[in-house]
Amino acid sequence: MSAGLRLPARSRARALQGHPWVFANELREPLAEALAGEACDLRDARGHFLGSGIANPRSVIAWRRFSRDPRDFDAEFLREALTAAVARRADEPLRRLVWSESDDLPGLVVDQYEDLLVVQIATLALDRRSRVVGELLGELLSPQEIVWRNDAPARRREGLPVGVTTRSGKAADPRWVRVGEVELWLDAMAGHKTGLYLDQRREYARVAAFAAGRRVLDCFCYGGGFALHCARAGAASVLGLDSSESAVSTARRAAERNGLGESVELRAQNVFDYLGAERCARFDLVVLDPPPFARSQRTLDRALRGYKEIHLRALRLLEPGGILVSYTCSHHMGRDAFLALIGSAALDARRSVRVLEHCHQPPDHPILPGMPESEYLRGFVLGVD
Ligand code: SAH
Repeated sequence: MSAGLRLPARSRARALQGHPWVFANELREPLAEALAGEACDLRDARGHFLGSGIANPRSVIAWRRFSRDPRDFDAEFLREALTAAVARRADEPLRRLVWSESDDLPGLVVDQYEDLLVVQIATLALDRRSRVVGELLGELLSPQEIVWRNDAPARRREGLPVGVTTRSGKAADPRWVRVGEVELWLDAMAGHKTGLYLDQRREYARVAAFAAGRRVLDCFCYGGGFALHCARAGAASVLGLDSSESAVSTARRAAERNGLGESVELRAQNVFDYLGAERCARFDLVVLDPPPFARSQRTLDRALRGYKEIHLRALRLLEPGGILVSYTCSHHMGRDAFLALIGSAALDARRSVRVLEHCHQPPDHPILPGMPESEYLRGFVLGVD
């Protein structure tokens, strides 16, 4: 264990309340360069131990806790934490195996797609230990291949280079994977996130349960998870919209692959434009699963107006007795604010709306009570009259 950090007297740092981060501006002095990528302990002003963390003087998040005990961030710790993370998960072919602070491995994400592991590293300390992480994952899970998706822009904030590589050195071919009732196209090297929206995989069946006989509009459809499940469940018609041409062509191929090419229409279109211009089409079920518009508190106001607008417009296209399913994947949008926004859109649209189901990120994306950022995905299934 190297030298420790100490919070100043009268500090109001959230770390004192159990949050796993210390921001650079919460420290009296800048972190020593020697601590870059190293483990160091954190103490309060009186010297009480608050945890062991990894440090990076180049990042606004100067320190991230990985243990409440005095520990080194070495191969032994990594083995323990990875083993515990895997043991915490249900045995499923598609799952998130490791999720950063929620698994005591700040900056490490590991997603499993059958025999393929896709790894993202976003902190200097883990980047320096990536070889050990790769060896341990190989030992624990015997994957056929490991894809290192180190292309997230967040890496630049830690002073890390960006790129995509594989353990074998060969490109990993895209392939079909079974997600619930359909097969979806997984491009682990270039798809969004680690290839698919694994965090929404359980929601497809939930929404499909409302789809039989309904005309469905899937807004922000990406590879077609909601659209194809609704078609499979007997929707009267399905229209999927996404602004990304490549997402739409992938979703089209997935519709063909699943024998649903006739029942699903997929269009490359901006959802705001579609909902703004469309006056005639009527739907009985609308899914809104937008990207995280609010990336910071600062942009929240604008994002709220955008969110409200699409809810208002979606409500106007819904027949009475219809279903609106709405998700937000920005932790800045809390449950109460989200529900208030839906209520206010319903008021403007003069529609009455009832919450039928609460939706949430799946248990392999565990929430830390002391870390509000770890709770980011929320949704509601609403009945609309
Ligand atoms: N529902 C999808 C995930 C949606 S992610 C699933 O379960 O797989 C958000 C998607 O919105 C991305 O595919 C992105 O390309 C798309 N997108 C972002 N802005 C958009 C816009 N203004 N109009 C339409 N699609 C948009």
